[in-house]
Amino acid sequence: MFMSTYPSVLLIYTGGTIGMIENPETGALEAFNFDQLQENMPELKRFNYRISSYQFTPPIDSSDMEPALWAKLVKIISYNYDYFDGFVILHGTDTMAYTASALSFMLENLSKPVILTGSQLPIGMLRTDGKENLITSIEIAAAKNNDGTAVVPEVCIFFENLLLRGNRTTKINAENFNAFRSYNYPSLATAGIHIKYEYDKIRKADPKQKLIPHYLFDTNVIVLTLFPGIQENMIRNIFHTPSLKAVVLKTYGSGNAPQKPWFINLLKEATAKGIIIVNISQCSTGSVEMGRYETGMHLLDAGIISGYDSTVESVITKLMFLLGHGYTPHKIRRMMNNPVAGEFTIPEM
Ligand code: ASP
Repeated sequence: MFMSTYPSVLLIYTGGTIGMIENPETGALEAFNFDQLQENMPELKRFNYRISSYQFTPPIDSSDMEPALWAKLVKIISYNYDYFDGFVILHGTDTMAYTASALSFMLENLSKPVILTGSQLPIGMLRTDGKENLITSIEIAAAKNNDGTAVVPEVCIFFENLLLRGNRTTKINAENFNAFRSYNYPSLATAGIHIKYEYDKIRKADPKQKLIPHYLFDTNVIVLTLFPGIQENMIRNIFHTPSLKAVVLKTYGSGNAPQKPWFINLLKEATAKGIIIVNISQCSTGSVEMGRYETGMHLLDAGIISGYDSTVESVITKLMFLLGHGYTPHKIRRMMNNPVAGEFTIPEM
């Protein structure tokens, strides 16, 4: 095995605004390659680290991200796992929270940092936020405790000045540098003059356990957002989609939904067929509590599972991940009720 006394980081460049340049003719942002990115970031050479890179060819806008590319990221990380202290993934901001959530489930027993970052302005622009995001992410990916273990052995998003747990994070701003938020879990670190780690909030890992990479996904899932006036025939058509296996139901407030018999019957019929329905709230902050109001109780009776305070990104990727492994609906329901990578908190009763 290659041993180095320098901290070592593998930089994986998938694409996104951070590595884009303005097309002089159309004005549209287009991806450029990693060499051009490095030319715009001479600061990378000032690190006393061994920094290697892997680039997606061609780089992609993250709107084109999909499970096959998550599998490619997992493959790159697992092949290089023993040779680097940490991993930084440069990624478009639009679907970064989905990728971070998916990777948190795919990298079982992870004991090294995997930090996703990007920027709102391309790295070649004078006011870019990309340089600071990238430099701090590299530092976090290499950070070690006195005993040699990683300070942040989990999949995170670093943006602006916050390190957030990846599967708790959502993109909330298309304009500001402060583009991500973790509403229901505190930040893991804040970068100011120093990087201040919140040690008690960071997941504990056991480096003796071998990394188990997972690659399988089943995308027969849908997110259904309720709204006053939603029509029976629309919902019926969705639930009768022949290959449908799971639905993320975005309900109101603390997990409430209409009490109309046709609605509850459709849900009951679907769960009886083995379709898994997970209830998450349209509110960003707080948790689903189906026993709180009568409107929520009906959902419990219909066999709906609580997503507690999960993000939609984490629930949909976890469902695709579990379905991809061919588990029975019973096992998936059980696994959805237990956090596997710190993705939700079960409230104390
Ligand atoms: N459309 C870009 C992407 O997600 C936006 C960004 O990188 O901020 O790839």
